[in-house]
Amino acid sequence: MKLTGITIFTMTIPIRRTDLLRSSRFGFSCNRCLHCCASKKIQVNPYEIARIADRLGIPTTEFIKRFTVENGSFLKFTDRESCIFLGSEGCTVHSDRPLVCRLYPLARHVDHKGEEWFSELEPEVSCKGEYLSVGTIAGYLAEQNAFSYIQAANIYLNLLWELMSALENRQQNEAEPCPIEEEITPENWMDMDEAVKSFCLRHGMDVPRTKNEKMRLHIEALRKWIKET
Ligand code: SF4
Ligand code: SF4
Repeated sequence: MKLTGITIFTMTIPIRRTDLLRSSRFGFSCNRCLHCCASKKIQVNPYEIARIADRLGIPTTEFIKRFTVENGSFLKFTDRESCIFLGSEGCTVHSDRPLVCRLYPLARHVDHKGEEWFSELEPEVSCKGEYLSVGTIAGYLAEQNAFSYIQAANIYLNLLWELMSALENRQQNEAEPCPIEEEITPENWMDMDEAVKSFCLRHGMDVPRTKNEKMRLHIEALRKWIKET
């Protein structure tokens, strides 16, 4: 089965420094010139999809269809290669923008043991941002309100690794597809609303209304699905 997954790797641009920690010196002030919102692949996870979908007042199923590519893995771009959420005044979903946008010009990496490190990306030639001589990566993450996004990214990345390992085991054992795959599949697991709806239907539960409760049930549904895979 082909997986379209979640990683915490970001835009495909050259790296200037790597192996940085939260304590490493880093300071950057963005001047909102908007140049970095073009010609990049903006990766999203189910939490980020659910946040922007909630902001737009639409289900994640519709959001994935209208605003993403590769089954919800990346935000769509316009014909001019700009992010679909870039408006004339800047990002139209700024307070709900994905983690990669919050971190730029940093990228965050996590290995399978949960070890985290950061890279400093080569900035856009035309970037009007200013590097500061004071500050740390930890301080920058706080300024960007990145912690809830990092927490969600860690959860979904771990689930992805668990899923890949379960699928690998099943392939090795040449197991038959299990019935639960009809409700969550590698193609739709990014779709929080659909996954939660199916899960609630199967377990005779009411579909929750709040984002946090939906995410809790989504994670529960995915864990159960992986266990049964
Ligand atoms: S989501 Fe917003 S900040 Fe991120 S690339 Fe799109 S327009 Fe830029
Ligand atoms: S190119 Fe640089 S200054 Fe312009 S919006 Fe992006 S980070 Fe900010």
